[in-house]
Amino acid sequence: MLNQKKISNSGNVGIPIAMRRDMCLQPKDAVNVQMQDGSIVITPVSPRCMFCGASKDNMKKIYGRHVCGECIEYAASRFKDDKAGDSDE
Ligand SMILES: [Zn+2]
Repeated sequence: MLNQKKISNSGNVGIPIAMRRDMCLQPKDAVNVQMQDGSIVITPVSPRCMFCGASKDNMKKIYGRHVCGECIEYAASRFKDDKAGDSDE
């Protein structure tokens, strides 16, 4: 996903809404900004769960997305339910 943006006079650059949604970034969230191999990399200080949006200590990174322990347990229980043929959806 490549987006071209202009830097404002005060040095601000807007993060496109699709990227903010994709990364579960909300207004006032803290981010780390660092230089890395000639690029500027923005990383959430406290990543949010891609399912419930919570920022917790028990986060796991799965395929580049953060998921909290509670959502992992819920998904695992739903998977077990589906395998047993008890799905309600
Ligand atoms: Zn969650």
